[in-house]
Amino acid sequence: MGVADWADGLFDRIDSARAEANALFEPTLRLGITGLSGAGKTVFITGLVASLLDRSRMRLLKAAAEGRIEAAMLRPQPDPEMPRFAYETHLSVLDGDPPAWPESTRSVSQLRISLRYRPAGIMGLFGPSVLHLDIVDYPGEWLLDLPLIEQDYETWAEAALATARSDARAPHAEIWHRSLDAADPKAEHDEVTADGLATAYRGYLGACRRAGLSSLAPGRFLLPGELDGSPALTFVPLPNPGRHRRNALYAQMRERFDAYKRVVVKPFFRNHFARLDRQVVLIDALAALSMGPRALGDLTATMAETLGAFRHGQSSWLDRLLGGRKIDRLLFAASKADHLHHEQHPELIGLIEGMLAEAARRAEWSGTETRAMALSAIRATAEQEIQQNGETIRLVRGPRLDDRKEVALYPGALPRDVAAVLAEAQTAAPGSAPPDWPDAEYAAVRFAPPRWRKNNGKAPPHIRLDTALDFLIGDKLR
Ligand code: GDP
Repeated sequence: MGVADWADGLFDRIDSARAEANALFEPTLRLGITGLSGAGKTVFITGLVASLLDRSRMRLLKAAAEGRIEAAMLRPQPDPEMPRFAYETHLSVLDGDPPAWPESTRSVSQLRISLRYRPAGIMGLFGPSVLHLDIVDYPGEWLLDLPLIEQDYETWAEAALATARSDARAPHAEIWHRSLDAADPKAEHDEVTADGLATAYRGYLGACRRAGLSSLAPGRFLLPGELDGSPALTFVPLPNPGRHRRNALYAQMRERFDAYKRVVVKPFFRNHFARLDRQVVLIDALAALSMGPRALGDLTATMAETLGAFRHGQSSWLDRLLGGRKIDRLLFAASKADHLHHEQHPELIGLIEGMLAEAARRAEWSGTETRAMALSAIRATAEQEIQQNGETIRLVRGPRLDDRKEVALYPGALPRDVAAVLAEAQTAAPGSAPPDWPDAEYAAVRFAPPRWRKNNGKAPPHIRLDTALDFLIGDKLR
């Protein structure tokens, strides 16, 4: 080893010792933000960061209300190999003329915001402390891949083929089924056939998503992240043909399925998921409700699948990886609550509590504190009350995204008996909805984001983002 190498090594060791010492005094909290596509992750993180940088609307974050947060600052990425959450780009779109919603989450990314705060009580006398908050954004669809780790190709393929033939899905799978019928699993593998099959399978998953169905594993097929076009994503379920050659299509698919687990699924859980301390799970329950009982039933089942990743005993591989480590706080958040008057928020919370009851019970059993909330990270509407036939109707209004025309929205009553609604959702025939199902149109309205900087100040208007943050980081700022 030359002197220069030796010196480099020494400096590396000093650097890492310094980083460790700093970590002791400046703790880091890794906060995961997830949810299925369109649930509101990008908007949530952008709103959250803007609201931490300018805390004028954070009255229910106690440390902010008590004036103990002295400064907040975006800091360089601690993990150089991880893409940075594009906060400034998203903010400039939201704040553009006209304001627009930013591009949604496609992959995993991270942002560090550091808070300098004065601890409460006597500890405050020793001067300020620092908390580094690492916010990690990732698609909820990727959590659906966890069960694959302990499955072999045969088992996975059999289940995936049966799902595609189910009543709810077969109408979206016609092209896939034609491609499947034309393929011979025993024939010699060739790339064109494999590619054609993969495209047809992805097309089927995409059609399911457009129809409001949520369970769309493997998670990377619709959200490939940096793996778009990679051979690890060109596998499909095929029926087991019995004895076959080593170079048969079936054998190749099995190999790719194994590669997917090895190079895609495991690294995600190991490098990102296993390092999280706390987690927000966003759920767009209103959109599913507006698409009918089937979509709501499917979302409920999919959430149960994704939330399996947060409980012990679900995957022995993950349990081994985590050791005793666990997520200690889990927030279930019904997003886009600005689509409803606040008087209806308890019903929205009741709905997600009903949908996630089993997952919450299991998480609490493993020692994770859970909370359900209805929130809006960037509030696009205002509330209004009107009198109609002697009755008060409570609605919301705001500019529609397409034409910026002011529209008023009232969905009707949300279901109160959540258990009955979910039971109905399990058994509903395709396309049918009971007569008392809420108005299907209301969640289809996309409001335009507000012009908050021009009108009101530096932080965006929101609903309960401060309460959410107090649950997520409040204890670390004491
Ligand atoms: P992601 O796929 O989870 O990253 O979802 P996004 O954060 O991109 O949100 C998807 C869409 O939902 C946005 O483009 C907005 O139209 C809408 N949205 C998200 N959050 C809010 C909110 O707080 N209020 C309103 N009105 N719309 C929202």
